[in-house]
Amino acid sequence: MRTSQTLIPTLREDPGEAETVSHRLMLRAGLIRKVAAGIYTYLPLGLRIIRKVEQIIREEMNRAGAQELLMPIASPAELWKETGRWDYYGKELLRFKDRHERDFCLGPTHEEVITDLFRREVRSYRQLPVNFYQIQTKFRDEIRPRFGLMRGREFIMKDAYSFDVDEAGAKLSYQKMYDAYTRIFTRCGLTFRAVEADTGLIGGDVSHEFMVLAETGEATVVYTDKGAYAANLERAEVPPPADADPSPLRPLAPAATPQRRTVDEVTAFLKVSPRQLVKTLLYTAEKDTVAVLIRGDHEVNEVKVARLLGVNEIQLATPEKVKELTGAPPGFAGPVGLKVRILADHAVKGMKNFVVGANQPDTHYVDANLDRDFSVDRFADLRNAQAGDPSPRGDGALVVAKGIEVGQVFLLGTKYSQKMNATILDDQGKERLAIMGCYGIGVGRTAAAAIEQNHDERGIIWPYPIAPFHLHLLPVSQSEKTAQATAALYDALQAAGFEVLWDDREERAGVKFNDADLIGAPFQVVVGDKGLADGVVEIKVRRTGAKSRVAPAEIVNHLR
Ligand code: ATP
Ligand code: MG
Ligand code: MG
Ligand code: MG
Repeated sequence: MRTSQTLIPTLREDPGEAETVSHRLMLRAGLIRKVAAGIYTYLPLGLRIIRKVEQIIREEMNRAGAQELLMPIASPAELWKETGRWDYYGKELLRFKDRHERDFCLGPTHEEVITDLFRREVRSYRQLPVNFYQIQTKFRDEIRPRFGLMRGREFIMKDAYSFDVDEAGAKLSYQKMYDAYTRIFTRCGLTFRAVEADTGLIGGDVSHEFMVLAETGEATVVYTDKGAYAANLERAEVPPPADADPSPLRPLAPAATPQRRTVDEVTAFLKVSPRQLVKTLLYTAEKDTVAVLIRGDHEVNEVKVARLLGVNEIQLATPEKVKELTGAPPGFAGPVGLKVRILADHAVKGMKNFVVGANQPDTHYVDANLDRDFSVDRFADLRNAQAGDPSPRGDGALVVAKGIEVGQVFLLGTKYSQKMNATILDDQGKERLAIMGCYGIGVGRTAAAAIEQNHDERGIIWPYPIAPFHLHLLPVSQSEKTAQATAALYDALQAAGFEVLWDDREERAGVKFNDADLIGAPFQVVVGDKGLADGVVEIKVRRTGAKSRVAPAEIVNHLR
């Protein structure tokens, strides 16, 4: 491609609006331009990078046996109401009405739409396992869109959805995606960790996030160098002790007088670490009522919490009662957000009555009383795992680092198939709920993360597989001789399979060098009268700055 025929509006100055390296360099290298907050146009070079990342994803998804399809961006409210997410998703879901006053939204993710397709079209276990994926524009009305493509409102995502007839199959589908993600991010040239993760608005039981390690990451991860343990800090926790009480709900000895508890008492009583206790999450608060969900996945035993709170004062509640108290949708089983620090803040404002989980599906205790039954005085100090803490897997000391979430995989179980009645006939002819997984990768965010990891003060240093061009051809003399040599090289290099950007502008060498370093193709080939007189051109490796002089006829061999 020729520079003179391509829109590559490079900028000499740092744009004021950009806070991170990738945002700054994407603007400066002429890859993207802002249309509105969190909404961008991909310019020709930017689009090439996006397409490269997409192609790697596509190849690995196909290799893993997934089938590509394409769902609509707009979806009808009815589907979202079936799962409860029309209410539950909040303002990130951009809603609109069509001319007939029907409610629609722009898809932030597609569990509802794919599950609807599945229940209509797939009937038998013989058709399973199946994994459908798409690479498509998503819309999330992010509260704080920022960092360019890193957190946009409109952005490209690869999302995939697996359906299996049983748990074992679902785990295998999950593992396949985990492995595919590992290959994808490795192929993109990224340094990353797969970490244990929370499931957020998507839900489900098991999840990993793929985190690109970079200082500008919004997430904090802990891991060990040996690699047996890696987790999002939100999630990092010590496993329950071997003698922890795993018992389900059973009659509890009522405490004589419910008492105010200190953190030390609570942790000793529950046999959990303070940090684990801090993993207690709250959800939707209404006036003086909040719900406390003690994370159930590692069985921090909610029954014990109830006992601690003095169960004679506390009633069991149905999901309907919880909804009445908190506004949370029935069957709600995941955290929506506020952390314990906020619990402490609210405590000051006099919040009193709590709903706590009861270690039984869809069951909670209501009327737990904060000031009377426990205190949260010191929670705020106890939030973060520290570097050097022992790994819960016993494989050394924890390292703490910042990470950019480029992908996430979820083992969903029957969360969506149950709500939407997506069943299949098993080999006995019995109807069963399909067991699902879902898997996302942010395409633009992956490209941005690559820049965060690969740049210097002069610009981007693209990993070869996702570079917009492999090679930047830079004629630096205005002579006929250089023009001819450059044209010949352009043809020869392209014929040999290299993607070449030919800077055919009448600009000074310095301007071309600056732009080439900014744009960041892995190789630069400098053609000029002086070199040609010696029978050579100069090749510069962008990453190392290493230069070598090579005869034009040798260049293809040299680069291979
Ligand atoms: P985050 O925690 O950063 O808000 P998420 O956990 O909400 O992301 P998922 O629902 O897991 O995102 O979506 C799958 C992937 O889509 C993410 O791993 C990320 O790479 C990408 N993604 C999510 N939100 C955005 C966004 N606003 N802009 C760009 N990419 C995004
Ligand atoms: Mg999000
Ligand atoms: Mg996330
Ligand atoms: Mg995520």
